[in-house]
Amino acid sequence: LQEQLIQAQKMESVGRLAGGVAHDFNNMLSAILGHCELAMGKLSAQHPLFSNLQHIRTAAERSADLTRQLLAFARRQPIAPKVLDINTTVAGMLQMLERLIGEDIHLVWQPGNVGQVRIDPSQLDQILINLCVNARDAIRDTGTVTIETKTVTIDQQQDGNHCEAVPGAYIMLSVSDDGYGMDAAALSHLFEPFYTTKEIGKGTGLGLAMVYGIVQQNKGLITVESEPGQGTALQIYLPCHEACAGQPVEDAVNQVAVTT
Ligand code: ADP
Repeated sequence: LQEQLIQAQKMESVGRLAGGVAHDFNNMLSAILGHCELAMGKLSAQHPLFSNLQHIRTAAERSADLTRQLLAFARRQPIAPKVLDINTTVAGMLQMLERLIGEDIHLVWQPGNVGQVRIDPSQLDQILINLCVNARDAIRDTGTVTIETKTVTIDQQQDGNHCEAVPGAYIMLSVSDDGYGMDAAALSHLFEPFYTTKEIGKGTGLGLAMVYGIVQQNKGLITVESEPGQGTALQIYLPCHEACAGQPVEDAVNQVAVTT
């Protein structure tokens, strides 16, 4: 509980910081970008200063990207939950996800016999995109990313990775990779806002903090299994919508724990 409180406070302060700064910062970046484009328009591509301007533009674009993510993180956007079939939603995103992870990485889709969940569709998109981007980035050259769904029961009140789950039927959405994996130290910081091991401009450390927030909002649970050099699997458990609570259950989760 203490850990949850600390995480909530961190998210709150990041939110406030982002809300206060990102908006104005984005306006200033627009001015930098605008003037940069103007200057580039006045110089020929051969001019010695042209490539400097290109670098300024790239850096400003990356910064704008970062502030956009911060704004999305800070904004308490009204959510519009819908009852949806998780397999249909994932299937509808596969083409986009394939493009996202690139042609050197194999995407495997293993739909289970699952029912419906009640969630804002854009939140589900965010979860999948974030998990797939991380899986892609963990794979050096070639590898496999597997997306899987399953119905599971959680039969006792338990702590997952920071989130608590009440007993009941859940739909598990898992994204696993055979990438470089994580050690115990990395796992302990995984959901912290701004924790990233990626190079500047590539990672913000907000992806999983965002996923965590979404899952918590939807009364779900997250678990992680990871082995350095072997790969990582992140499982998201979302409560089954009432209509499917009586469906046959494929598996039971007796122990939900973080393993390294
Ligand atoms: P970002 O992707 O911007 O770094 P995230 O919050 O999504 O932010 O991830 C935080 C960090 O967790 C990553 O920088 C990486 O070190 C680690 N991580 C997340 N997913 C994986 C994965 N599938 N395999 C290995 N490391 C991961």
